Amino acid sequence: MTAQLIDGVALSKTIRADVGRRAVALAARGRPPGLAVILVGDDPASAVYVRNKVKACREHGLYSVLEQYDATLAQATLLERIAALNADPAIHGVLLQMPLPRHIDAQKVIASIATHKDVDGFSVLSAGELMTGLPGLRPATPFGCMKMIESTGQAIRGKHSVVIGRSNTVGKPMALLLLQANATVTVCHSATPDLAAHTRQADILVAAVGRRNMLTADMVKPGAIVIDVGMNRNDAGKLCGDVDFEAVREALGPAGFITPVPGGVGPMTITMLLVNTLQAAEAQA
Ligand code: NAP
Repeated sequence: MTAQLIDGVALSKTIRADVGRRAVALAARGRPPGLAVILVGDDPASAVYVRNKVKACREHGLYSVLEQYDATLAQATLLERIAALNADPAIHGVLLQMPLPRHIDAQKVIASIATHKDVDGFSVLSAGELMTGLPGLRPATPFGCMKMIESTGQAIRGKHSVVIGRSNTVGKPMALLLLQANATVTVCHSATPDLAAHTRQADILVAAVGRRNMLTADMVKPGAIVIDVGMNRNDAGKLCGDVDFEAVREALGPAGFITPVPGGVGPMTITMLLVNTLQAAEAQA
């Protein structure tokens, strides 16, 4: 018997249906939740991401605008646009698609987004809210991972959780969210000696590295929850995660849980962007 699947597509569907209902209720009271997505430059992958975000908003009763600018856009002009969106009552969330062209100071521009509209949760102020346990908008990917862990019905409190990766957008906020849920948290990274010694102790294991097959069957404890954030390509060019999926699923046994790639964390990330935009709109209503 193998571990149970945590189906990110099915969970997304349930959460998005709830977002849709609440968006309609907000619209009936005045305005639908509004998201502005800003894309600077012509990176093809970014163009696909922003299109998907705008499409998901429109399919669930949110108002969404896509502002697209040439790669030569001046930083001052971008700051002016963000100031206008900060003041626009129809817009409750502002998302700046990364990466930005090199002449733009990403931290400075992100910091200019009003904290209550920072639906990516990437600004220093939003990170500070998470760090200090204040309410606020949480980065979508780790927020989605938390929902997936909660969906198993297993307690998080007191569980040993191991996060592999310490980026500001995934690993660190993931560790803080688990800590906030009263897990005991270990954060591993590229300088961690004997990674397996840590991962084998994990009741909850989150892999956010970006290297395929880096988590193998001998590195997990039976019955653990494994969340695979990684987005990589296998030899056939197909999307895959950081986890050696079939072997790890077997090693976890029937009491364990695992997310697939594709169909796991990926769909949940856009879903949690919708949730953040809705929450921002409800708070601003
Ligand atoms: P990142 O900024 O490159 O961070 C990767 C982390 O992995 C770093 O902290 C790094 O450690 C650590 N690491 C690298 N090699 C390691 C090793 N051998 N052992 C242990 N730790 C190691 O990447 P990210 O932005 O956090 O993203 C991680 C992965 O998630 C990528 O595949 C990305 O595409 C994917 N992702 C998916 C979604 C989604 O929606 N599904 C969203 C965001 C990201 P150091 O800090 O020491 O360098």
